[in-house]
Amino acid sequence: ACTPLIALPDGAASSALSPQGRLGSVPWLLLPLRQRRPAAMVKETIRVYARLKPLGRRQQAGIYSVDDEKSASSLEITVPRDVADGFVNNKRESYKFKFQKIFDQEAKQDVVFDSIAKPVAECALAGYNGTIFAYGQTGSGKTFTITGGAERYSDRGIIPRTLSYIFDQLQKDKSKVYTTQVSYLEIYNECGYDLLDPRHEASRLEDLPKVTIMEDPDQNIHLKNLSLQQASNEEEALNLLFLGDTNRMIAETPLNQASTRSHCIFTIHISSKEPGSPTIRHSKLHLVDLAGSERVAKTGVAGHLLTEAKYINLSLHYLEQVIIALAEKNRSHIPYRNSMMTSVLRDSLGGNCMTTMIATLSLDKRNIEESISTCRFAQRVALIKNEAVLNEEIDPKLVRNMIIQLKREIQELKDELTLVTGKQRTSELSQEELLLLDYIFFFSLKNVFRLDELIEKFLEDNEPESTLDVGADMRKIKYCFTYLKLRQNRPKISDEKLLSHHIPEDKDTSKEEGKGELKKMKELLQQRDNEISILSREKIFGFQLMWLQWFLCVR
Ligand code: ADP
Ligand code: MG
Repeated sequence: ACTPLIALPDGAASSALSPQGRLGSVPWLLLPLRQRRPAAMVKETIRVYARLKPLGRRQQAGIYSVDDEKSASSLEITVPRDVADGFVNNKRESYKFKFQKIFDQEAKQDVVFDSIAKPVAECALAGYNGTIFAYGQTGSGKTFTITGGAERYSDRGIIPRTLSYIFDQLQKDKSKVYTTQVSYLEIYNECGYDLLDPRHEASRLEDLPKVTIMEDPDQNIHLKNLSLQQASNEEEALNLLFLGDTNRMIAETPLNQASTRSHCIFTIHISSKEPGSPTIRHSKLHLVDLAGSERVAKTGVAGHLLTEAKYINLSLHYLEQVIIALAEKNRSHIPYRNSMMTSVLRDSLGGNCMTTMIATLSLDKRNIEESISTCRFAQRVALIKNEAVLNEEIDPKLVRNMIIQLKREIQELKDELTLVTGKQRTSELSQEELLLLDYIFFFSLKNVFRLDELIEKFLEDNEPESTLDVGADMRKIKYCFTYLKLRQNRPKISDEKLLSHHIPEDKDTSKEEGKGELKKMKELLQQRDNEISILSREKIFGFQLMWLQWFLCVR
């Protein structure tokens, strides 16, 4: 059965449960299920893998070597002498790069899925955002890795395998109610297109609905016009993937090879809820096939295609800028907004997401320069730290109902209180309510005091047995605490000192005036106190009478 990977205990505060995502040196995600401690926040660097495309028969091998170690693998690329002559740094002959793991030419799709995508899919099921993106030059195997090859069923790539895995897990897990939706976005020349638009039989990319970016006041990115299609099972989801890929292909002509020049983002949106629980978990899993990373100079194109190449290179250039900014410590501004792709993937890069990069490499002699540049990019990406948090929220519908119910309950309790006490209680204490009786024993009524006087009296009373009884009125209890707090924080200097602090010493007249003012205020205060005292004595007299009558009646 499918057990949730990261079960958050009810009511647990997120910060209290952060094991930093790592146990020793092993990344949290790579730990066996049983060893993964509950975590509401997982801090991890972006995991970076490399995949080498099988070389054609005529392509020269022997340029690289893979060194597999336990925790990481390294790839050494040796630049052949004839290539090195025209190379950027012809002094160096070999370059070494570290990856989480390197998938050599013969690595099959199922192995790639199991190591790279399955852990991310598991996290998405548990309520964390995930992103897997493929980066590399055109023809290096990005689409083959992300979507797959059409020739054999076993060539299915990460998207169909992830869909199959997710729906398989959802079916097994009867403890929750899941909803799944998918979206498919293509970004071409800084414009977004909805590849899942069902109304269109697009013959050009421009025929598809244009997607634009909106930012809300909390700086969350929303994609306007990108449809979220419900997919209740694997078949429905695969049909949508097929629709999107068809739209992607139709829009492509030999002159306009959009797919190698555009970024495609297939997103699986998962929400889950346990029946009866008020919390909902949401997660997004982005599977990204980026545009070819080759540089403009090499594309050797003109006119329309040059414009495209510039755009593509520009957005990848901005991606690089974002990566560089993120890797720098103390950088407060990250230029996500410079391109649509970096805006859409903002959370995946240095945000709330578990992100994985696959550097696809076509390591023959011709591509050595591009391969080294892809590896260099990967090394920088590997420095970026993300903080994935469990995306939980209280069901807004439930919250609304709960508020209505609580309001009703409060009103009922208020009515009940009025009935019992015979008084209508307001949230604040009235002046009248601040007057309390102080009596020594049952019928010997002593006096009436204001609550603050009683507190003072209580504080001054050295008798260890003395208590301060304000009755079962939460407002009065709160009043006492507030009074004590104010008293505690009251400046320790006397009134006179306070005055002399404000009035210069040499001005005797104003000092006298100040004293007069103080005296006047004290008199006013005394007068108020007397009034209150008279008022309360009248009240207490009535009260005493009532008690007396009652006492006589009983006897
Ligand atoms: P990209 O999307 O990076 O431009 P593709 O995924 O389209 O590159 O790959 C180019 C060609 O190489 C395709 O015909 C693809 O089927 C093939 N190819 C890529 N990677 C592999 C692989 N690992 N095994 C077999 N064929 C591959
Ligand atoms: Mg491609």
